[in-house]
Amino acid sequence: MSNNRGENEAGQGLEGTDDPSWYIHKTTSRCTQKTAQKESKIPLARRERFKLMDIASKVLLTFMGEEKRYNVKGHEVNHRTCKCHRVILTPTAQVVKSPNKNKAFFGGVMQCASVWTCPVCSAKINERKASDMRVAFNQAPELGYKVSLMTFTAPHAAADTIKDLSSKMRESIVSFWRERQIAKWKKNKGVIGNIRAFEVRYGDNGWHPHFHLIVFSKEAIFDDKDILLDKWQRVCMRHGLDKPNEYGLDIQDGSKAGDYICKFGSDGEVLKRFDGENVTWDAADEMTKGHAKKGKKGSLGPWDLLRCLDEAKTEKEKKKYHGLFLHYARAFKGVAQLKWSRGLRKVFELDKEKTDEELINEKEDKAKLLCHLFREEWRYLIKNKARAKILEIAEKSGSNGIARYFYDEIYSEKYAELSGDWFNVFYSDFLGRSNRPPDD
Ligand SMILES: [Zn+2]
Repeated sequence: MSNNRGENEAGQGLEGTDDPSWYIHKTTSRCTQKTAQKESKIPLARRERFKLMDIASKVLLTFMGEEKRYNVKGHEVNHRTCKCHRVILTPTAQVVKSPNKNKAFFGGVMQCASVWTCPVCSAKINERKASDMRVAFNQAPELGYKVSLMTFTAPHAAADTIKDLSSKMRESIVSFWRERQIAKWKKNKGVIGNIRAFEVRYGDNGWHPHFHLIVFSKEAIFDDKDILLDKWQRVCMRHGLDKPNEYGLDIQDGSKAGDYICKFGSDGEVLKRFDGENVTWDAADEMTKGHAKKGKKGSLGPWDLLRCLDEAKTEKEKKKYHGLFLHYARAFKGVAQLKWSRGLRKVFELDKEKTDEELINEKEDKAKLLCHLFREEWRYLIKNKARAKILEIAEKSGSNGIARYFYDEIYSEKYAELSGDWFNVFYSDFLGRSNRPPDD
């Protein structure tokens, strides 16, 4: 097999060059044009996610610190995201397509399932989590529950470390719900539980970890802000945080969120509500796509840090964003991003909450195997940053399109000495492949 072109050409990054949404992002990016206001509605396209994943994995090569570590087989131990959609787990990599959604994905390759550090896995996992949330949202009114969105924040200064702040915030929120007065309040209002999302942004005042909670209750809780805020302030101070001001706790009516998430989807679609309006980042969107959302008021989400690193002009800037993402990744390792309070899933007859690992490995029903890719071909895709492109080709023109891509990119030279169009010969071999390495 000849794959010299793949081995020798670094490629200019097919992922992210000719995708319209990428250009929209480029022209509205906070790093290049801070005044842009509308970017929050632009969904992260798959190409950009793959591109950001590559940037993240480069940063995370330094995750373990200066000293390299090796496993029993002598392989270097790295952060899981460094291996995501790179390492092949079976003799071939497969391209698979779900006929219902016409969505292609890869099989037989490592997926890191890291919601904090991998834009590709995080999108997939959060889409699945959102579907459970949609069930709860849609059922809540039927069961007589009101839905509210609560946001908890605390003051933070540029000197605070993310590890310190985030652990104090987590301790505070747990304490808050355990307070006797809060327990009493919950009972009075018929609060049956919440879905809690943890998020972090970075801005002029440093790291800003915060919680969004979707709260289900019999009675409206909208007017209770004052008592709840008072408790939140006390709890924060007890855990070593500064006293939150009046914005430390916010309660919004989240009942409209049901509309928003009914058509909650993925991969570059601009989603519509029932009334035809575009879905904005509210309630459920806010909850599960927190990272995809571009920062408000100049603050940056984790994926924005990767974009800034990519766009950094000077070594100093590069070092800054590299360090920020690395500190963030270290501080959030093992921390839950989305959590259903105990017993809440039962109310909506949902099964036990799945782990991120389980969600990423969930097989799509009726997904159809399109073709097998040999290791050399897979490496060619990584090298030329063309994994997202292959998925697009798979969705548009199936196995024939993929075969054509590889024929043109890798094999045509081999056939060039022979006269005539040999694509059909190649294609029939291509379809006849199985999950085994090539003979030669
Ligand atoms: Zn991943």
